[in-house]
Amino acid sequence: MRKKILIINTGGTLSAVMKESGLIPGLSIYDMQKELRMVSGDVDIEIEDFCSLDSANIFPEDWSALAARIGESRNSYDGIVVIHGTDTLAYTSSMLSFMLRNIGIPVVITGSQLSITNPVADAMENCRCAIHMAASQIPGVFVAFNRKVMLGCRASKVRSLSFDAFESINYPNIATISSLGMKIDTAAVPERTGIFKLSNAYSDKVCMIKMFPGIHRSLLESLADQGYKGLYIEAYGIGGMPFLKHDFISTLDELIKGGMTVVVGTQCRYEGSKMDVYETGKRTLEIGALEAHDMTGEAALTKLMWILGMTQDLHEIRDYYSINMAGEMTVRK
Ligand code: ASP
Repeated sequence: MRKKILIINTGGTLSAVMKESGLIPGLSIYDMQKELRMVSGDVDIEIEDFCSLDSANIFPEDWSALAARIGESRNSYDGIVVIHGTDTLAYTSSMLSFMLRNIGIPVVITGSQLSITNPVADAMENCRCAIHMAASQIPGVFVAFNRKVMLGCRASKVRSLSFDAFESINYPNIATISSLGMKIDTAAVPERTGIFKLSNAYSDKVCMIKMFPGIHRSLLESLADQGYKGLYIEAYGIGGMPFLKHDFISTLDELIKGGMTVVVGTQCRYEGSKMDVYETGKRTLEIGALEAHDMTGEAALTKLMWILGMTQDLHEIRDYYSINMAGEMTVRK
């Protein structure tokens, strides 16, 4: 039977046109339908516009509405493709992995580095990959880019100009396209752990900070005054934090005692945190900070926003954060 795929457009470079103000997402999905049909082969496609934004202008309320739209369409299609700007694509794909946890169809997010109107663009190739992954009957949230399919909560934009802009961080690719066709590594696809339930609430009282030598503790202290409930810190190496001349750990201790959830990860792109090795990490664990392990920054942040949207109970927050929800985290023993 022919597969039926819904393609939802949110904008980004794939749909870009040049205006006096610069490159903007100007094509509607209907302007792109000829190209999309050229790459869809024997897959039937339906198309719709969700928004037309540079992804710098995508905010959490857009994730929530997009998740709702996908959730309500899921029974009418074999798969769904989302066209998205590349700049914040990995945040969207991470958040959708949580909001659409246990979805029973493939949801594949793609974009491109050049507009679909450009004859040498990567746009059609990326759409081809996304449409055929969406027809694969492998359920989950994925990113398709440069002939690779990655788990949505493991993808990260690692290059700003090249066609090979995304990598799957600390996790194998789900599929690759080569002269052998599309090869799917089914062993890498996380198992569904229950039935689908749309869970698209979030908290916007979450902040992300990158540690640097010279950072002031007052920055952290001001977060509590502003009502923040969650903080994700990209610390050094395997998760180190200063505590001598500038005692960040005692500042974090106060924040945690005041009810803030603090997650500590690493600013190293690969291999993740391991906070039980150095004193600078162990002390942070002892005051009750959570560890991001090998999650991407995008997944660590959106997971915190998602959990804080679900519950205010500090024990539940800890429990949810420590579990691998959608393939985003490997918890080392
Ligand atoms: N600025 C664009 C966006 O994220 C970049 C792209 O799509 O490649 O919307």
